[in-house]
Amino acid sequence: MTADSTDIAVIGAGIVGIAVAYHLKKAAPDLDVALIDSGAPMALTSAQSGENYRNWWPHPVMKAFTDHSIDLMEELARETDNRLNMTRRGYVLATRATEIEAMQAELAYGYGDEYATHVRVHKMGNADAYEPPLHENWDTAPNGVDILRGAALIQRLFPYFDGELQTIIHIRRAGAVDGQQMGQIMLERFRVAGGKRRLAEVTDIDKTDDFKLTLRPSDGKGDNLRAARIVNAAGPFLGQIAAMLGSTLPITTVLQQKVAFEDTEGVIPRTMPFSIDLDDQLIDWADDEREHLAEDPDHAWLANIMPGAIHCRPDGGDNGTWIKIGWAYNETPSEPTREPILDDHFPEVVIRGTARLNPALKAYYGRLPRNRTHYGGYYTMTDENWPLIGPTDVDGCFVAGAMSGFGTMAACATGELLANWMLGRELPEYAEALSIRRMADPTLMAELHAQQSRGIL
Ligand SMILES: Cc1cc2nc3c(=O)[nH]c(=O)nc-3n(C[C@H](O)[C@H](O)[C@H](O)COP(=O)(O)OP(=O)(O)OC[C@H]3O[C@@H](n4cnc5c(N)ncnc54)[C@H](O)[C@@H]3O)c2cc1C
Repeated sequence: MTADSTDIAVIGAGIVGIAVAYHLKKAAPDLDVALIDSGAPMALTSAQSGENYRNWWPHPVMKAFTDHSIDLMEELARETDNRLNMTRRGYVLATRATEIEAMQAELAYGYGDEYATHVRVHKMGNADAYEPPLHENWDTAPNGVDILRGAALIQRLFPYFDGELQTIIHIRRAGAVDGQQMGQIMLERFRVAGGKRRLAEVTDIDKTDDFKLTLRPSDGKGDNLRAARIVNAAGPFLGQIAAMLGSTLPITTVLQQKVAFEDTEGVIPRTMPFSIDLDDQLIDWADDEREHLAEDPDHAWLANIMPGAIHCRPDGGDNGTWIKIGWAYNETPSEPTREPILDDHFPEVVIRGTARLNPALKAYYGRLPRNRTHYGGYYTMTDENWPLIGPTDVDGCFVAGAMSGFGTMAACATGELLANWMLGRELPEYAEALSIRRMADPTLMAELHAQQSRGIL
């Protein structure tokens, strides 16, 4: 291979492109692989991730896929003395509902055969088998799911939560990682294996027998690159890369935001798992605030019922002081930009929203600590919220993207899966379903569109 040609060009050095490049070199060390990005690696969507992971999904395919990704993250943790700071306090799904048959049915479908053996129901009086998430070690944490029933039991175990909660579903194979470190580890290994990097924007692609990429370089190297095959891992710009080849992908981009701040009042216990309030709610505005919002056409919706799934967790380990809050309530797609405009109301909205589950957060109403960051990025997603990993309608062009709000947790399995597609290796059972080919399976698509939940958080 010459300086201006390569076997495979991977476009995009977010967590997904990095994982693909790493797994290609790992499986086929002689392959020439170039990883191209117009900016620093992991600097776009991957820098905005909440960095949470879970094996809880409403469908067994996504459960199997993320379970495997967690296996691969554990492998990285083991090999690096846990440089990626993998922790496992689980996901707590909290609700005031007592009728939870629908949730249990969803769990049973997602967990399949594991449901009978790995799901434990606890009530006051028989809760001794429940292990509270006191330690964050991923390798000693319990597996499966614990269901806690009744306000008294929940208050005994989680005294800092809303006293009205009736049910907690505690997903145990779940927690957080340092996504930047995880990307760095794979990037370093890619480099050591002889992988090439280009700091350049791909501005055009010409497809003949191979691909001719036109580049706007920032690295002083050439302005074009020939590649026998390419991988579109451009995150929110997947559609732009596809369009350069006259193709389209069934995706939209939806802006989502997060707030992180220093918990100066120390109101969130450091042992609190990633906690999600499942219930819809009316945000706790004062009467005059609600009236004011209701009169503003752009923000009147904030005075109405808001959807569930606001979530909060401590950030930075047991000795840290920061907390992170997110609420993926936006459902309106917009064109991606590199510097999205955020809603100034968001921090106050989420602090009020999350104070319903953690009433002590009311201490911050109208006075969030100065030490805070408000950030956001795009969920690049298909309608059914499943990724696109595999071949495309352009021969030789592959895609790894549409990772919505799960790209950090799914990156490792995505990298391995796409490498297997490209190298003609054995594929897991779910490979077709996670590729664009699922669109040609009307039974699966009808099932996915009929599902109550798409697993969006
Ligand atoms: C607010 C928020 C919270 C999230 N929380 C979680 C979470 O808790 N857990 C989880 O698993 N996931 C989470 N996610 C999702 C996760 O962050 C993404 O799915 C993941 O980062 C996507 O990675 P990517 O590599 O596909 O895209 P990106 O990180 O966007 O990388 C794409 C790269 O392609 C490059 N690129 C694009 N076009 C070109 C071009 N023409 N030429 C050269 N380079 C180009 C870009 O510069 C960029 O670096 C969250 C996302 C958001 C927005």
